[in-house]
Amino acid sequence: MFKAILIDKQDERQRVALTTLDESQLPDGDVTVRVECSTLNYKDALAITGKGPVVRQFPMVPGIDLAGTVEQSSHDDYAPGDAVLLNGWGVGEQHWGGLAGRARLEGRWLIPHPEAFTPRQSMAIGTAGYTAMLSVMALERQGVTPEHGEVLVTGASGGVGSYAIALLARLGYMVVASTGRLEEAEYLEGLGAREVIDRRELSEPGRPMARERWAGVIDSVGSHTLANALAATRYGGTVAACGLAQGMDLPASVAPFILRGVTLAGVDSVMRPREDRLEAWRRLGELLVPEQLDAITRTIGLEDAIGEADALLAGRIRGRLVVDVTR
Ligand code: NDP
Repeated sequence: MFKAILIDKQDERQRVALTTLDESQLPDGDVTVRVECSTLNYKDALAITGKGPVVRQFPMVPGIDLAGTVEQSSHDDYAPGDAVLLNGWGVGEQHWGGLAGRARLEGRWLIPHPEAFTPRQSMAIGTAGYTAMLSVMALERQGVTPEHGEVLVTGASGGVGSYAIALLARLGYMVVASTGRLEEAEYLEGLGAREVIDRRELSEPGRPMARERWAGVIDSVGSHTLANALAATRYGGTVAACGLAQGMDLPASVAPFILRGVTLAGVDSVMRPREDRLEAWRRLGELLVPEQLDAITRTIGLEDAIGEADALLAGRIRGRLVVDVTR
């Protein structure tokens, strides 16, 4: 028996509760994992609150990330006792996820747990940090280097934003952080931001082209913010789009693409091929320092995760929430 958060839907009403499950109730898969830690991502909060169409079938155990130890395996690459990590692949959306004491998964979704981190640390990073790393890699692959100039990070005090700032700063980029929480300026500067700007400068409808400022952008916000970021990206610059905290729309023009050769690079973490996952986690291990992880992390229990989901969607959570599933 193990504890789990379970989301169910009856008569169009979603219910979510902390419950106790039996291993025989777990879905099919070739690896059973004893989960140690999970985390609360934006997507998990949408699933738990029912405020976004994340859950594709009910009942569902949410949790798109997990770190734990293999208990049983019929997959060639994994044996009992192996430390493993999972991000995405539709887990927590269409396959039971990490906000539970046990998970049964496809071995091909797993990667060996990165040696650089403890499970608590890897979950402090979670999909947010892994997506931030993929976004940095997207800028690098388009040739954006620190010498090119300022890089804008939007949604700065959120999970993806916080990690994007830390990673870019560590790599020597000059980071400008856009936030709606100017009172968090000290926190953002502590992560490595050179300048903190009010997100209202970017969140209203703007012109198709603006003064060239950004060599690169990591945008977790979408909508007018992404449009304005594109409009102010310098000749040949790249914008990595990974989120939609402001909105899913993109009210922009083609002007930055055809007049300034700007690249809009989409970043998906969920279905990402294994090689990119391994590279992203290897580089996270090289670039992040444990003290930084501690500074942006708070640990909560399974039951707390239900209540914190609303706060996360309301933008009241700074940094990352690790869920200790044994609590
Ligand atoms: P968080 O909730 O931790 O952070 C989002 C941040 O966006 C907030 O902290 C806030 O930052 C800002 N924000 C919130 N609402 C608005 C608004 N209305 N207008 C402008 N800014 C706003 O979420 P995550 O960092 O975990 O995720 C960020 C986004 O990235 C989400 O949309 C998520 O779905 C997406 N995502 C995508 C992935 C992918 O694979 N492509 C993977 C992971 C996440 P501040 O207070 O500093 O302004």
